[in-house]
Formats: sequence, C-alpha cells, structure tokens
Amino acid sequence: MTTFKELGLSPDIQKAIDELGFTEPSPIQEEGIPPLLAGHDVIGRAQTGTGKTAAFGIPMLQYLDPDNDEVQAVVLTPTRELCIQVTQALRTYAEHLDIEIVAVFGGAPIRSQQSQLRSGAHVVVATVGRMKDLISRRSLVLTAARFVVLDEADEMLDLGFLEDVEKILRMCPSGRQTALFSATMPPPIQRLAEGYMYDPIMVSITPETLTVDAIEQAYVEVSGRDKTDKLVEVLEAEDPEQAIMFCRTKLGCARLERDLRNRGLGVKALHGDLSQGSRDGVMISFKGRRTKLLVATDIAARGLDIEHVTHIINYDLPNTSETYVHRIGRTGRAGRTGRAITFVTPAQRKDLEQIKSDMKISIMAWETPEERLEHAPRLRGRQGGGAPLDEQPATSNGDPRSGPAEDRDSSRDSDRPEKTDRPEPPEVPEGRTKLFINRGKRSGITEDDLRWALQEGAVLPEEAVSEIRILDRFSFVEIDSDRAEKTVEFLDGSKLKGSEIRVEVARS
Ligand code: ADP
Ligand code: MG
Repeated sequence: MTTFKELGLSPDIQKAIDELGFTEPSPIQEEGIPPLLAGHDVIGRAQTGTGKTAAFGIPMLQYLDPDNDEVQAVVLTPTRELCIQVTQALRTYAEHLDIEIVAVFGGAPIRSQQSQLRSGAHVVVATVGRMKDLISRRSLVLTAARFVVLDEADEMLDLGFLEDVEKILRMCPSGRQTALFSATMPPPIQRLAEGYMYDPIMVSITPETLTVDAIEQAYVEVSGRDKTDKLVEVLEAEDPEQAIMFCRTKLGCARLERDLRNRGLGVKALHGDLSQGSRDGVMISFKGRRTKLLVATDIAARGLDIEHVTHIINYDLPNTSETYVHRIGRTGRAGRTGRAITFVTPAQRKDLEQIKSDMKISIMAWETPEERLEHAPRLRGRQGGGAPLDEQPATSNGDPRSGPAEDRDSSRDSDRPEKTDRPEPPEVPEGRTKLFINRGKRSGITEDDLRWALQEGAVLPEEAVSEIRILDRFSFVEIDSDRAEKTVEFLDGSKLKGSEIRVEVARS
C-alpha cells in the first residue's frame, strides 16, 4: 500500500492532506495520482465516494503556478451542487497554497462570477452551460488552461451536454493534459475520450461490494396517517448525528418540513421547487453540520457525498430497488457504518418484500436502540449488548480510514457486535465472483441474453460462467474471479435488449 508521502506531494499539499486526516490514498488516488503527476491523460473509472476529487485535485494543484494569473486549470462538472462540492474540496487541498479557485455555475448572478474571474482565478470549476456563457461574454479565456478535468462525465451525458463539452475542450490548448472521471463508460463517453484525449491511461476501480453492505437496515410499519408521529418517535430514539429523510414528491417534502418544524424540530428541505439560492444555503448549512435534519427528494439529493450522515430515513418507500440503494448509499460512506430506516404502510409490505428479494438483503423490524441492547444478550448469549443477529450492522470491509465520524460513533460502535458474529451470506465458491446486473425479467432479460453478453460481449469461455440467476429487476452471475474485473469493464454501461446495463461486483 502506497502512502501519500511515497506519491511525492509538495510539502504544502501534504500538510493539507495530513490536516484533513487522510492517512493513506484511496485506490483511485493511489492509481490515478502518479500518472497524472507524470503528465499523462487519465481516464478514471470509479463510483461516487471513492475520492476522485483528490485524485485529480492533488496533481492539478501541484502543477499550478501561483505567479501566473491566467486560468491554468478547468474542472467541468454536471451539476451546480457538484460544482460547489468540488470547489470546496479543492480549496481544502489548496489550504496552504496561494491558489485561487473560483466556482461558476448557473442560477447564480453571472456578474459576481465575472468579477471573481476578473480578480484572478488559477482554477475554474464550472458547470458546462455557465462556462459556455462566460466564454461567449469574454469573461473567461481558456488559452492557458493546460489541465482539464471532466468530472462525473457520464452524468453530463444524461443531461445532453456532450456537444458543449467538446466545444469547450476545443478552446483549450491542444497540448493540455486531460483527466476524465466517470462511474461508467458508455459509448459516447468512450468516443469523447478517443477524440479529445491523448493516449490516456485507464485506471479502473471496481467496487468490492455494493455500498449497502455497510448499512444497518430496518423497517417501520405505519399507517399513512401516523407517519409523522412515528418519525418524531424514531428521530428521538435514534438521536442521529445527521439524517436525511426522503420523500417521493416536492410537495410531500415541503409538507413534512412544515410538520416537523411545527413540532419544534430544526429541519431544512431540499427539493426542486426552491430557488437555487436557497438550495445552496440548505446544502452549505447541512454540509457544515449546522442543520441536523434534511428532508429531500431523490433528485435534489442525487450524486452528493454528504459526510457525517448517520441515518437515512425513507419516509416514503422508494419506487424501485435501485432508488433504495441510491438513497441508503448516502450513509455508510468511506468505511463508516450507517443506519437506514424505511417506513412502509401495510399496503406497501409487498413492495418492501420486493426490494428485499431484489437486493438479497434482510430488513428487520425497527427497534429502539434500547430494545436492541436488551435483545442482544439473550439472543447472542454474550454480555455487552448489540443488535439482534439478523439486524446487526454489516461492518464495512475494514476500510481503515478514520475521521471525526468514527470518533463520534466509537461509543456506539462498541455496542455493536464484531463482524465475525454475523451470519455470513451464502458463500460464493472459491475462485468465483458474483456480479450484480441491474436488469432482470422486467426488462425482458433472459438467461440466454446474459450468456450471450458474457460470452460474446465480454469474451468469456463457456466454462468461466458457473451460474446465472435472473430475478425480477436484477440478475446475478457467477464467474471466474480472475475475469471479473475485465467483465465488469466490458459490460458495465453497455446495452442489452435496448437498455443500458450496470454491472458491478456483488457482495459475496
Ligand atoms: P468522489 O468524487 O469519488 O465521489 P470525493 O472526492 O467526493 O469522492 O470523496 C469522498 C469522501 O472521501 C470525501 O468526504 C473525502 O473527504 C473523503 N476522502 C477522499 N480521499 C480520502 C482519503 N485518502 N482518506 C480519507 N478520506 C478521503
Ligand atoms: Mg466527485
């Protein structure tokens, strides 16, 4: 395992990294930083929460010349929220450098951004539309932008931005260094890379498990009418450090905020009906941990890495198993454990069962932390407390990163059983790896389709595939472990029966 010191960072950047408490580089940083420092173009494939910002941010900052007032580096992001988030992170990495980092994004007054640019920006972090706008107003010149980053490129694809991205790339110097980060590599992104990058080095980080592994999950059955009361009770019992409560609609979101407020709880809402200014305010206050409780819609909270969130509450049951994973994946980040509590009305029980069977997880009835403690010695025959066996937190994969959240949680963690106490999920045979595919019967996928994709698409010999299981909305295949990474690389983001598939390594 490489350390940050071995990566050869400048003392000022090393100091900032130390102060942030980053003890060792994450895999994408370990693999991405050296080629970027060496001047190569890099394509980095990694999911959210893997530390991409520092992977490109550190080499970028290291290369900048504080005495040159031109815009030397550009980071393009798909959304304003990500733009702000990246800017804030880069500023912490640049804490001890004389480097100005300016964020430009839509929905905020262009004038103040113009004046910030005028007073000097070494790095501009931008959403695509606003950057184009500022270029056409001649407030932004890219002739000296020798370091260009496309962050979360596949999200730009969703928003139909690629043409504008290409225009912007053409304005940057041809000798520039380009880094592209994306969770998936669908063909349009591949073409973009082929057309605009020079001999890129591919760095691909396959997630070891789905994020839900690090999350303790429970459900609460409650009638629609009693939901708010129950929520208040759950919040009191759980006493979250920070919690996000998901609602299905903007209206429901606003209503819940009002109801919680009326009961004296400090809560903020994040949804698409708010002005951009208030959305920013809410985000900043939540990230700064001044707001403890956030009520949000799926879209408003999408793609954000929110630290310190200990609890996710599905106030409204998510529509699909995928949404469930996306929502609860917001806690338990970077090796921390989190709790997810899902509200279901009696009529929604079957939908919850569907999620459980799709995801192959068990979600037990919610108990207060006291009840959990009480049950533990009886069930486990051991003093010291802990959750009932079936409800125990799945510990993360021993990610050694520590941070304030862990110190904070340490008392509670000691109540929690160790990993070895929990029933192991069904074994995958030695030498085999199980892959998860986000499509199943409902998308018309059959065993033959998957076999075809594995053998023709990922060029696996027949004997490398040991099992294929098609569920309603998901599928699992078991293949030789040494071919797993390549298979994911080949198939993730490709199309099967007309729909794009996501492929990742499943929990074993
Ligand atoms: P991504 O862009 O891949 O979603 P981020 O760059 O936003 O990921 O980082 C995710 C979280 O991990 C952030 O809270 C960040 O501070 C933290 N982080 C990044 N690198 C490290 C590291 N080497 N050690 C510990 N924490 C890290
Ligand atoms: Mg990111």
